[in-house]
Amino acid sequence: MRLELARLRAAPGRLFRVSGQEEIPTLDWWGERLALEGPVQVKASAFYQAERVFLTLEVKGRIHRRCSRCLAELVEEFHHKDFLEVPVKEEGAFLELSPLIESGVRLAISPRPLCRPDCRGICPSCGADLNFEDHRPGCEALRRTPDPRLAKLKELL
Ligand SMILES: [Zn+2]
Ligand SMILES: [Zn+2]
Repeated sequence: MRLELARLRAAPGRLFRVSGQEEIPTLDWWGERLALEGPVQVKASAFYQAERVFLTLEVKGRIHRRCSRCLAELVEEFHHKDFLEVPVKEEGAFLELSPLIESGVRLAISPRPLCRPDCRGICPSCGADLNFEDHRPGCEALRRTPDPRLAKLKELL
């Protein structure tokens, strides 16, 4: 998706809108390659003033992730709106929005996605998925000193 700079330049201060879909099949993310589910829905509005484009960019879509605690697969829905100021001193006829859309998606998605808010994750000591099973026999987590608050509670009971 792109903006026609000639039209924007011809009418400084006037707001132009474009909307549509942008295909971003995959996104490189901290060594992972994330697959998007369908195209990104994009809404942009922009005006030109003093060799700058002032841009409102909204991105919306779905992306395949893994839970940051238990690694279960999930689909994250994202929605993000950005206000950008892009200098356009050169004579280019278009302002290419694709890189801006991609960084919008980066800002939109969660740095630590969860399969559910109370996911208990995988035990770092025994490797048990605590959503489905208890610590395995001999796990360090079982040998830790009991929580003093729990001891107090037992006393009271
Ligand atoms: Zn999880
Ligand atoms: Zn464990």
